[in-house]
Amino acid sequence: MASVTLEHVSLRYRSGAVGLADVDLQVADGEFLALVGPSGSGKTTLLRSIAGFLTPTAGRILLDDRVIAGPGVAVPPEQRRLGMVFQQHAVWPHWDVGRNVEYPLRRAKVPLAERRTRVGEALDLVGLAGYERRDPATLSGGQRQRVALARALVARPRVLLLDEALSALDEPLRDRLRLELHTLTREMGLTVVHVTHDRSEALALADRVAVLDGGRIQQVDTPSNLLARPDSPFVAKFLSDATLVDGRVTEGLFSAGNHPLTVPCPGMANAARATAAVLPAAVTLTPGGDAIVRSSLFTPDGSDVVVDWRGTHLRVRTHGSRHRVGDAVSVHIADAVVYPQAVEDAPEREAVMSA
Ligand code: ADP
Ligand code: MG
Repeated sequence: MASVTLEHVSLRYRSGAVGLADVDLQVADGEFLALVGPSGSGKTTLLRSIAGFLTPTAGRILLDDRVIAGPGVAVPPEQRRLGMVFQQHAVWPHWDVGRNVEYPLRRAKVPLAERRTRVGEALDLVGLAGYERRDPATLSGGQRQRVALARALVARPRVLLLDEALSALDEPLRDRLRLELHTLTREMGLTVVHVTHDRSEALALADRVAVLDGGRIQQVDTPSNLLARPDSPFVAKFLSDATLVDGRVTEGLFSAGNHPLTVPCPGMANAARATAAVLPAAVTLTPGGDAIVRSSLFTPDGSDVVVDWRGTHLRVRTHGSRHRVGDAVSVHIADAVVYPQAVEDAPEREAVMSA
């Protein structure tokens, strides 16, 4: 196994698109790191840069203490000894399962007898013992994804890279494979970088989660710290559906421009522009008032409600009776997290608000 380190890694595509912007990230040996972010935030670019299919325009990537990408260095993918699984099970249809899984070993010129044993072991690991002779066309989507996983594991990779590897699967199967993947990689002590746009999957599986936006790392922390202490309005909104409210800070008190919301923030410097992040669970609704229920979705642990609160779409998590679309309600906010917004950050923040 190995650790992965990215130092000031930037990547700009020929089209001018920013893939990665000054990314610093360390994945410890044996760690399960999830990489989340909206579509286009650079997750695949980051993963493919580690794998060696893309070369950063600046910065360095190290496996343990060996530089594999950097100025004048580009170790080819097959020499990095990494395993990779993509969203669409890239299983070759004209080869049987055994031959698919064996492929990395044949490339590495491993002798036949050892190949047989290791293919058997890898299939066993992913719950497909005895499937060597099967035609991939006769397998379910989940089974084909297990074949792809076995092929990634058979060469005993130093790091396992997963790019939306579970995203194409249907719900019950995805849940099961998610659990199995977690157990399997933890038992093996594998270093894993798992890319997903599914924040609950990231939080559920990972030791730490890196949140990416616009090619930049916004925050890296354990799932519980990310939820409890988001560093920025973006992270609060992306991970917890926080509603962002514009305002200002005067003498230790945040007040919103258009909403009856004040939040004490003792010790915070005065700021002409600040943002309050209101978590859905911090809001209660009572009947009658100037807010209108726009949607109300039932979930096993309460309802996800959106109310139009003086022009702001406020996300609310309620318990008890279900609100109906069109109901008039009053909004009560128990607390909010206030972020002072420096003037130079404003354009970025505005981009987040309009997303
Ligand atoms: P994600 O995996 O998070 O959805 P990507 O890493 O695929 O994001 O993309 C990051 C950014 O780079 C996006 O703006 C995307 O449009 C751009 N991009 C990705 N691949 C290419 C490419 N081959 N050529 C040009 N731009 C690309
Ligand atoms: Mg992607």
